Amino acid sequence: MKDKFEMPRRRFLQMTGAIGIATAMTAFPFRNLQSAWAFGDHPQEQLPYRITKKVPQVCARACEADCAYYVVMGVDPATGLERAITLEGRPEDPVSNGKFCIKGMGFVDSLYDPDRLMVSLKRTNPVKGTDVDPGWITMKTADAVNEVIAGLKKLKPEEILFASPGDPYTNRLCQSIGATRSDQRTECFGTHYYINCLTLTNPPNKFYSSCYTPSHHVCGYDFDKSKYQVWFGFDSFSKCGKAGMLNHWAAGKRNGCKIVMFNPVRTPMADGYASETYGIKPGTDLAVALAMIRTILAGKKYNASFVKKYSDATALVDVNGRVALKTDDGQFLAWCSRHRKAEPIDDCDAPVLTSGPFKVSIGGKTIVAKPVLQILTETTSTYTSEWAARISGVPAKAISRIALEFAAAAPYSMVPTYKRDAAGPNYANSWRLRHAINILNTLSGSIDHEGGILLLHGVKIPWIDELAPPVVPYPEQPAKSVDFRDEFPVTNDIYRKKDFSAPGHYGMVGWGLYKTNRAKAVFFRNPHRGLFAMIQPQMLEKAADKMQMVVDWNLYLDDLGYFCDYVIPAPHQFEEGKLDLRLYYPKYPCLAGGVPVQKSPGDQIGWGGFAAKIGLAMAPKYWTTDGSSDPKKLIPTNMGDVAVKNMGAAENAADFNKKGAFWIDRKPYENYKQIEEIGYGRPKGRVRMYIDEFSQVGHEPLPVWAKRWHDSTGDYKFSLLITRAPWHMHADPNFINNPVMKEITVRNHMECIWMNPEAGRKLGLKEGDMVILENDPNYMKDLPRPQKAKLHLTNRVVRQDCILTFHGIGHRAKNLRHAKDFGYRDGDLIPQKDPNIVKKHDPTGMGWVEDVYVSVRKA
Ligand code: SF4
Repeated sequence: MKDKFEMPRRRFLQMTGAIGIATAMTAFPFRNLQSAWAFGDHPQEQLPYRITKKVPQVCARACEADCAYYVVMGVDPATGLERAITLEGRPEDPVSNGKFCIKGMGFVDSLYDPDRLMVSLKRTNPVKGTDVDPGWITMKTADAVNEVIAGLKKLKPEEILFASPGDPYTNRLCQSIGATRSDQRTECFGTHYYINCLTLTNPPNKFYSSCYTPSHHVCGYDFDKSKYQVWFGFDSFSKCGKAGMLNHWAAGKRNGCKIVMFNPVRTPMADGYASETYGIKPGTDLAVALAMIRTILAGKKYNASFVKKYSDATALVDVNGRVALKTDDGQFLAWCSRHRKAEPIDDCDAPVLTSGPFKVSIGGKTIVAKPVLQILTETTSTYTSEWAARISGVPAKAISRIALEFAAAAPYSMVPTYKRDAAGPNYANSWRLRHAINILNTLSGSIDHEGGILLLHGVKIPWIDELAPPVVPYPEQPAKSVDFRDEFPVTNDIYRKKDFSAPGHYGMVGWGLYKTNRAKAVFFRNPHRGLFAMIQPQMLEKAADKMQMVVDWNLYLDDLGYFCDYVIPAPHQFEEGKLDLRLYYPKYPCLAGGVPVQKSPGDQIGWGGFAAKIGLAMAPKYWTTDGSSDPKKLIPTNMGDVAVKNMGAAENAADFNKKGAFWIDRKPYENYKQIEEIGYGRPKGRVRMYIDEFSQVGHEPLPVWAKRWHDSTGDYKFSLLITRAPWHMHADPNFINNPVMKEITVRNHMECIWMNPEAGRKLGLKEGDMVILENDPNYMKDLPRPQKAKLHLTNRVVRQDCILTFHGIGHRAKNLRHAKDFGYRDGDLIPQKDPNIVKKHDPTGMGWVEDVYVSVRKA
């Protein structure tokens, strides 16, 4: 018997090759590696491809970093065929610094995914479902598009829902025909977007660009220069793969930044970057944030010069009417301690910060008023660190110390938030947390300051409406929309009057489709979010039965397709031109372009062309220069040409691409300049802490403590936490249908649910057991669908009252050879929201995807 294990050289090379790909996230893309092996025994020694060119591209859709890179093209000497073989970073890109991640590589691979949709499909079997043969017939895409248009034309505009992000084409289309657009894409951003709108950006303004990734997050973070950061669940597993950000966190750490993390899960981000971690009780981050505000205010440790000059801290508020007092031209009023009267805030040389009440005469009426900072001090006065410790489980001493350290590091201290953190779409109180976070960032003065929150500036990609304003006003949007947006005046006002690209109320779309007959047709403008990345897709599935038409425009036939009447093929993202702003790191005005690496190999149609065809057929006066349906008279849509010309980057998009498809203006960041231009109380804008739109709909204008929506009862005691594998994006088959990424998922137990070992022991559960997760029927009365999953016991779940799930991996579509029947669906466990419940808790109407307790039992 051999006493030493020996591995044959070839097997060793196979393994190291695979491990290298899995870990280094560079090297050749996966299927290329597989196909390369057919040409020789030692692929590392025999180059299978001769590099021909490098095509600039921007990594959109997979995450908002939008790393700029080159797609490296090569020719296979054996066949003479050219194909994309790998990526090469662009060090000049201030976001990526020349890095990219495994998802970017996944895009290279998915160009050649054998399950890509090449033709249009039409259902012949009216019975829908993933277990039913739809009886697909294939069609020419041009014919399928005409049939879809004919179907839409039979309906009233208010009966059509476009489930789509607010890209330029969808916006023009929905506005021109008067149909609802609700967003499956930016739900995660909705809370962030709306609170930023209401505190910072006051749309419409120059921030909102028609960039390729309509991420709706208008600020980036200067992680490189920051000295103190507090992360409320910001360190999700998905961030471990974000090459466009990892390099900035690393730079910050090298510069001595202290990072405090609150998270019930210990992530690899915590291992690598945290200075301190606290296993906070889920849904209680708001209590800690409020206690931090109280500590800073009680000790008068706020950045006084910033709050006086650049915020509404001194603005007077009518304490009975709960609205800010303003001059006729919109300026805030402040109480002048020298002149003992109310004066326009920017004319007042001695504004009072913290006292009152004061009697202010306006229009013959006497109003009792106090400054915002005084009201904030009173509102938060009972939120001591001891109080927050009892709720959150974070030690009181730590909360007080962190608050004071945060204040001392101002203005280089900040709380970053993005997408799926505790201040995102997670809890019914998340909007209050997001508001509290903006107040913390205001108290430190880190907003619009380097080392803090960076605001986009000096660059703009226009919308179609800026190139071709509508000839007559658009028709009214439906009075009653299927996502109930009309019942949420705060967000409805922004969507209808200020920014039509604003995130939708997608957390209520399933409810609207299932419980009402408002919509008769749904058009899913993917790619690439599967139905089962959504919340409670059961309602969408069920509603599909009563729809006259359901259409998906997608790169794959995935689970959603099995509930559709038509599935229309979309191009791969590398088969499209792009122009992107650098939203993640907007320190410098910068544009990066993308050039198609190849023609789409099948009968695909791009979204711009598809939307224009629908628009020309259904609302020609908004889509042509002469009001006809003549495609030759199409309105201008050359946003890229205009953007690069306006920036002085190039004559037009073609010229820009010839010059390398990248432009940057590395001028120094001008602190606080953007706020003055875009904030509230103009002409000199300010950050607003007191949001009177909230008081007008019966909610608090300043954040107050509110517990979670969903209570824990009996066996339903495990708080559902949701994260995402770093190599996945929602339920996108680009990644889940990739055999290597699937294998990495399995090897990292990310097709399992994760539980603390002690919690598992108490339930008599062992590693690898199959378990059933079930909702409390009090919170999910309709269409419950318990989930069966494999259990992974790990101390990464710090608390015993939580389980961790991985988002979007559960696929059923049979044609996806690797993704089919893989994993569970986290979305099935999240109840769709009854708008009447949502209104009571959240004026922004978001999804509350983690506000759920489930039971866990052995299967
Ligand atoms: S971090 Fe990865 S997925 Fe995100 S943009 Fe960069 S390469 Fe693409």
